[in-house]
Parts: sequence; structure tokens; C-alpha cells
Amino acid sequence: MIDSTLRGKNALIVGVANERSLAWSIAKLLHENGVQCAFTYQGEAIEKRIKPLVESLPNLNTGSKPWIQQMDVGSDADIQRCFAAYKKDFGKLDILIHSVAFADKQDLEGRFADTSREGFRKAMDISAYSLVALLREAEPLMELAGGGSCVTLSYYGAEKVVKNYNVMGVAKAALESSVRYLANDLGPKKIRVNAISAGPVKTLAAAGIRGFRNILGSAEQSTPLRENISADDVGYLGTFLCGVGGKHITGATLYVDSGLHILAGGFHEDSKSN
Ligand code: NAD
Repeated sequence: MIDSTLRGKNALIVGVANERSLAWSIAKLLHENGVQCAFTYQGEAIEKRIKPLVESLPNLNTGSKPWIQQMDVGSDADIQRCFAAYKKDFGKLDILIHSVAFADKQDLEGRFADTSREGFRKAMDISAYSLVALLREAEPLMELAGGGSCVTLSYYGAEKVVKNYNVMGVAKAALESSVRYLANDLGPKKIRVNAISAGPVKTLAAAGIRGFRNILGSAEQSTPLRENISADDVGYLGTFLCGVGGKHITGATLYVDSGLHILAGGFHEDSKSN
């Protein structure tokens, strides 16, 4: 997939934890299209894992090591420090990939009704509010670029009850709604904001959801296409949204889920016989 309009653009990728991360699939494809990718990671534990990974995508202009900074999206100080450093080194920003979510493990099983105030706050803060906080810092840098594109990651649990997804479903609903409000606020500056609602993919974050293997298995049996998506499918849609094809798409949640979201109850009648 080559989109020549992407060549020479700058992207900040937030949310790579390892080679399975959905953010990594988007970054790889953006890089292939000539986009200069910079990365942030949550903390030390992840730094060791992702450094060799992102170093496999050298700086397209200088061939030097890629830009990589620590940033906990729950910290305004981290966010401001990181964007100030990015501005100093790159000046402008064309693309922001927000691929971050967190909820306490005990809130991803059992009853949603039992979610604690603190668990709810944390899931909302990291998984939804962080998009608002990052885009506020990105806005002036995207203005300097003459516009920009931001892509975030959501899941069907935002719309329908998915067993054990619980507080993350509520956070994703807030995230998708934030996408619409942000798209409206930033549209006059030609900054587009969209969400990809992805089918289940085995990643670090997904492993935290109790019974994730069942979600993966039932998606494979029940979706109209009868197959699970891959992280690369998310990469293709993310790259499309940042490129010329997405030029007039904003405030949208687009699905890459083999059609799961069109099914009543997320279950296809004859799936058992296939
Ligand atoms: P992942 O574990 O590879 O990525 C999640 C990232 O969030 C990690 O890099 C982690 O470090 C980061 N993160 C968590 N808390 C953070 C914090 N406080 N500060 C900075 N970073 C923080 O898993 P993934 O599946 O690639 O998840 C990426 C996004 O895709 C998430 O929003 C997730 O909800 C969404 N998503 C995943 C699936 C799936 O099945 N894997 C499906 C739909 C949507």
C-alpha cells in the first residue's frame, strides 16, 4: 500500500509496547510510505523491549536512530515535556497515533456494577482523556503543518455489552464520543480525528481481558468473513486514514472487524455449522 502524499510527513506514535502492538503495525506501514515516525513509551519496562524494535525504522532523513521518549499519558508534566522536546526536534506534526488503554485487571472480569470509583477514574483517564490531553499539545504543531490527522483505537465493547470488557467498554464509548467533539473543534484547522474499531487481536493489552481467547474464537466463527483480523489490517486502515483517502473523513469510527459489528448479538446464525 503506497500513498505518495504521505512522503515527508512527521508522525508521533503513542502506544507501542512490543512487535504485536497495533500501534507498531500502523507505524511500520507509515514508515514504508515515507513518514518520519517518532515514538513514546510508557516506562522503563517497555523501553528495553521497544528500543531495538523502533531502531529497525531509521530516521528517513538522516539514517540516525529514531526519536524515542518516555511519556506516561496519565501525567500532564510528561505530556508537556514530551511535546516540547518533539517541537524542538521536528517543529511540526502531521500525524498522531493514540493507541493506549488501561484498566485494572480486577475491572476486566466479573460484574461492571462492581467497578470501584478509582478503577473507573483510572480507565477513563488513561484510555479516553489522554486523547484530549495529547491532541491539545499536538494542535499547535499540526497547525504549523497546515493540518493533521489523529487516529485512535476503539473496540465494539463501546457500543454493546461484551463479557468482561466492562469498564473498558465505557471508556471506549467516552473515547469515541471524544473523537466526535475533538473533530468538530479542530476541523477548522484541518485537523482530522478518527477512531478505528478493531476486531480482537492477541496483544499485551488484550491478554489482560479475562476470557480473551473466547472472544477471539467466537469472532473467528461468527463474523460474516469467518476470520479474525490481523494487526496489519489495522495498519492498513490507519495509514489510509492518515493519507489522501482520509482527506475528508473526520469524527468517524471505522470498523476493521470482519463485519462483527453488523450482527445482532454479534452472533451469526449458521456459525456453528462452519
Ligand atoms: P498493547 O498492549 O500493545 O498497547 C497498549 C499500549 O498502551 C501499551 O504500549 C502500553 O504501554 C500503553 N499504555 C497503557 N497505559 C499507559 C500510560 N499510562 N501511559 C502511556 N502508555 C500507556 O495492546 P494493543 O492491543 O495494541 O492496544 C492498543 C489500543 O488498541 C488500545 O487502545 C486497545 O484498547 C485497542 N484495541 C485493541 C484490540 C485488541 O484486540 N488488541 C481491539 C480493539 C482495540
